Amino acid sequence: MRYYPQPMGKLIAELGKLPGIGPKTAQRLAFYILGMDEAAVKELSNAMLEAKEMINYCSICNNLTEAELCAYCSADDRDKSIICVVESPKDVIAMEKTGEFHGLYHVLHGAISPMDGIGPAEIRIKNLLPRIQEGVQEVIVATDPNVEGDVTAMYLARLLKPLGVKVTRIAHGLPVGGDLEYADEVTLSKALEGRREI
Ligand SMILES: [Zn+2]
Repeated sequence: MRYYPQPMGKLIAELGKLPGIGPKTAQRLAFYILGMDEAAVKELSNAMLEAKEMINYCSICNNLTEAELCAYCSADDRDKSIICVVESPKDVIAMEKTGEFHGLYHVLHGAISPMDGIGPAEIRIKNLLPRIQEGVQEVIVATDPNVEGDVTAMYLARLLKPLGVKVTRIAHGLPVGGDLEYADEVTLSKALEGRREI
């Protein structure tokens, strides 16, 4: 026996595919949406579609952007001699919130994870190399403080150091196994300040 009319069942099933949404939460959200007025539901679904259609990846650093270049790559007041490598656009926001970093970014969209079959070719490392030739003096590897983040940092150090650039890592002081995006601003500022050459 079906518990819900078909469209309701479909809405619950779709919501349940989202990360962190279990069956009960999916059901609760579906009932909430059903209770919203039509204009609000349209606004929600349009916001989802618009974000999907209008957000691209920056052609230089892979960060999210509405234009060809992201806000950092197109800014005049950023220090172009230093690049901070992060796993996700969420980490860019975490770094910006510290107010301590004024260089450019490079977003990998993942980390090397041999266990999951993710090698260097599966993340966005390739377009980092041509950037190093353009007067970059330091690359700060700010991947997550876990095994995958460390493996990625070591890989990048081996790849980039022969190009004559200083490679540093910021794991210092961050809770091991955690996500960079969840670190508070003070902890992240200290980790940035205490970075070490690798
Ligand atoms: Zn960019």
